[in-house]
Amino acid sequence: SSFDQMGIKDDLLRGIYGYGFEKPSAIQQRAVLPIINGRDVIAQAQSGTGKTSMISLTVCQIVDTAVREVQALILSPTRELASQTERVMLAIGDFLNIQVHSCIGGKSIGEDIRRLEHGVHVVSGTPGRVCDMIKRRTLRTRAIKLLILDEADEMLSRGFKDQIYDVYRYLPPELQVCLISATLPHEILEMTSKFMTDPVRILV
Ligand code: AMP
Repeated sequence: SSFDQMGIKDDLLRGIYGYGFEKPSAIQQRAVLPIINGRDVIAQAQSGTGKTSMISLTVCQIVDTAVREVQALILSPTRELASQTERVMLAIGDFLNIQVHSCIGGKSIGEDIRRLEHGVHVVSGTPGRVCDMIKRRTLRTRAIKLLILDEADEMLSRGFKDQIYDVYRYLPPELQVCLISATLPHEILEMTSKFMTDPVRILV
């Protein structure tokens, strides 16, 4: 199967091919369509499988850039991963005019406030800073339709469980959720049963 057959918008296809991808990796073959079609997805996958690119391209497909509100939120365990996802999304979404902001600890709160008030389509961040921005009402959640929990097991080992549940409480009830994790311990399954509806399960 190819990217052409996935119903991806033309300007995004140009970005994917321009970035140098020719055909989808295994996780992209299996996860992109269900996510684009609105399903909740649990993907058991390690880093290096193309998961960051999978997240980037599905988010680019789902976001309506005519609406200047946060529509997708990606939570990652580390600043590096959150920034990496932002970079890949901006590269693949080069022809879309998509505004992405990484909301991570260690960066200036003033800059977060400026970017978020100016209006962004996507936030890629770590749970602590994202939670803080939501509670300050700087990050408006009402238009968020997609939540992605990347490296969920790693977020739990870093002690972000309460913050993830906190963030979730502020999100609209009609929410699509995707969770990516190398392992699926009990606490992750608890989270999937609380956050997700009839999820598609993918093992790569
Ligand atoms: P990721 O897990 O998305 O960071 O991807 C791991 C590595 O594989 C990165 O260097 C990506 O640029 C590359 N990659 C991801 N998806 C594809 C693809 N469909 N075709 C070629 N390279 C890819």
